[in-house]
Amino acid sequence: MEWPGAVPQNEDMTASVLSLIAIDGPSGVGKSTTAKRVAARLGWQYLDTGAMYRAAALAIHRAGVELTDRPALERVLSRLDLSLNEGRTYLAGGDVSEAIRSQEVTRLVTPVSADVRVREVLVDQQRRIGASGRWVVDGRDIGTVVFTQACCKVFLTASPEARAQRRFLELQAKGQSPDFDAVLADLQRRDLADSTRAASPLRKAEDAVELDSSGMSLDQVVDWIVARHQAHA
Ligand code: C5P
Repeated sequence: MEWPGAVPQNEDMTASVLSLIAIDGPSGVGKSTTAKRVAARLGWQYLDTGAMYRAAALAIHRAGVELTDRPALERVLSRLDLSLNEGRTYLAGGDVSEAIRSQEVTRLVTPVSADVRVREVLVDQQRRIGASGRWVVDGRDIGTVVFTQACCKVFLTASPEARAQRRFLELQAKGQSPDFDAVLADLQRRDLADSTRAASPLRKAEDAVELDSSGMSLDQVVDWIVARHQAHA
């Protein structure tokens, strides 16, 4: 994916409604799978901003840089060569799609995504990518910060137990033997960190519609979002 050169100005960003679906919500609620499916149904593109934070965390870790070393962090960010293509994530041309899903990166990404400077750099890239519209973008701050002018904002939730159960089954399907309580505790740790951080905390945008997907199948969630978008298009 190419990053277009011109950075949209903030004034332009809020001036008009953008054909873009923002899906925010807590960890493990199924945002990525849902967003991918909604994008496929509409013939739009899908942007996984979580993958961008994960790739940045991996780049910072690989460079051996601590977040407290601000000059070193600036250097890593200025050279951050991050790209997404056909569902794969690349750092300096190398495919890191599997590496960014490791337990270690999942742990490292929490403090990295709470860093204001990291967020500035990634939000700028996200705005360049989505500026043309016809994107489905998932994350934590898409409706509140990145694309406040998105035409359709969904805040997707599910109870911690329902999310942990989905994640548990996903890990089992991958041949792992997860511990349910550990999966639940990890989700709750990430919920707390994401919603209490100072920089762009996870919260529902005022103009977002909240969908509690606890008792819904993936198909039902996708149908609901597509129908809502079409009703308001
Ligand atoms: O969505 P995913 O779990 O892959 O995101 C990884 C981490 O990146 C999250 O735990 C969250 O802390 C952070 N994130 C964020 N803002 C976004 C997307 C993800 O802070 N827009």
